[in-house]
Amino acid sequence: MRLPETGWDRDRIFATLEGYRERDLAWRTGRTFGFVYDSGHEAARIGKDAYAMYLAENGLDPTSFPSLMRLENEVVGMALAAAGGAGGACGTFTSGGTESIMLAVKAARDAARAHRPDLGRPEIVLPVTAHAAFHKAAHYLGLEVVVTPIDPATCAADPAAMSAAITERTILLVASAPSYAHGAIDPVADIAAVARDRGICCHVDACVGGWMLPYFRRLGAAIPPYDLCVPGVTSLSLDLHKYAFAPKGASVVLYASPELRRHQLFACASWTGYGVVNTAVQSSKSGGPLAAAWATLHAIGDAGYLELARSMREATLALERGIASIPGLAVLGRPAMSLLAFAWRGGDVFHLADEMKVRGWYLQPQLSRGGLPPSLHITVGPTNAPHAGAFLADIRASVEAARALRQSPIAGQVRDMVAGTATEGVLDALVAELLDTLGAGNGMLPDRMAAVHQILDALPPPLVERALAAFMERAFGATA
Ligand SMILES: *Cc1c(COP(=O)(O)O)cnc(C)c1O
Repeated sequence: MRLPETGWDRDRIFATLEGYRERDLAWRTGRTFGFVYDSGHEAARIGKDAYAMYLAENGLDPTSFPSLMRLENEVVGMALAAAGGAGGACGTFTSGGTESIMLAVKAARDAARAHRPDLGRPEIVLPVTAHAAFHKAAHYLGLEVVVTPIDPATCAADPAAMSAAITERTILLVASAPSYAHGAIDPVADIAAVARDRGICCHVDACVGGWMLPYFRRLGAAIPPYDLCVPGVTSLSLDLHKYAFAPKGASVVLYASPELRRHQLFACASWTGYGVVNTAVQSSKSGGPLAAAWATLHAIGDAGYLELARSMREATLALERGIASIPGLAVLGRPAMSLLAFAWRGGDVFHLADEMKVRGWYLQPQLSRGGLPPSLHITVGPTNAPHAGAFLADIRASVEAARALRQSPIAGQVRDMVAGTATEGVLDALVAELLDTLGAGNGMLPDRMAAVHQILDALPPPLVERALAAFMERAFGATA
């Protein structure tokens, strides 16, 4: 692609952009269970307008844009109220769950270093169900990850296993409320008690649940204590761009006390330019996401969120019951909110996902990990609720259709090779071949993905990671 010689007119630009979206996930249909948190509320338009209104304001320097300081303090205040913040609890607005988690891990690391100068390479202990963002934070921040098993019956973390994994280098324990993959809430009180006993931090990843769990509780759902009220919990992440329905780029990281947050900040006066002091990772940043989040919270309001929660809860319970009633299908663990995953004993969930795709539905395939079988994940939102009945009818039809489909023979070969003596080089060559057959040159995937998922599911995690990275290198292969 070349820069146009002269600027295009507006109509041409928007017609082109609209055309580019043609093959994107059709999330407006209500048949996509993931990626887009669509409230279906008029707040969506208000959030968009607020985003545009604050698009050019720069969060780099709150003293130049005091409106952004005020908006952040008000948004963080509302999040603290939702997450049981008391006393000196405080927080920061960030661009998303990953940034919130990155900052909480950095704060824990630097607090530990301040108190234990001889710490060495720090470790964080997390259940296998904790979000990949913790692995990413460790990768970026030079930490070791220690993964602990879960209880396969509940898909919740095992506090005893986490306690046993602690060493003199451990700085942080992680619990989810709930986990993304299975929607299970970890025993936060037990995990936080262990952390407190050992004098280390405990982060609650409430990225997906932090805003909605209080509403589910008000509607009668059994939600165990999970927030900043729990003794030993030192920080908590809560994404506003998930179930608070703010446009993307909106999350908060909250701390039980300001002493810990202090270690999150970065200041620099060692260069020739303006004094830099950042609360989060980004420096120059649009005021759009913050203003949009503030506007969304005000447009929906407490009663609005309660109503949205009610429709999601009813739909999720109906889906859970409906799925469990289909012979062979089993919901994994105990979904606490509006996310769940299900497996298929005697069948292949990856074919099932393809069959659902043919029928216009999007479900997220999950590989087998941590002793759990491969599964399909759904994140239920308000605009999915009216489609629950149609979804279940199509799941039944898809199970019948998928029954007739066979496993990819390559997946079987890969499984044998992994179990046998195949070297990494051989497996790498196989992954390269797989990418070639995918025609990944233009980043477009085939309509049927079951064979790819079956092959990935046969590979050990490091090889899957290399395959994913290699795919991205090809997908983003633009050259000058
Ligand atoms: C979405 C999510 C994250 C990561 O958040 P991003 O906004 O995608 O960066 C982390 N933890 C949980 C539980 C999540 O659901």
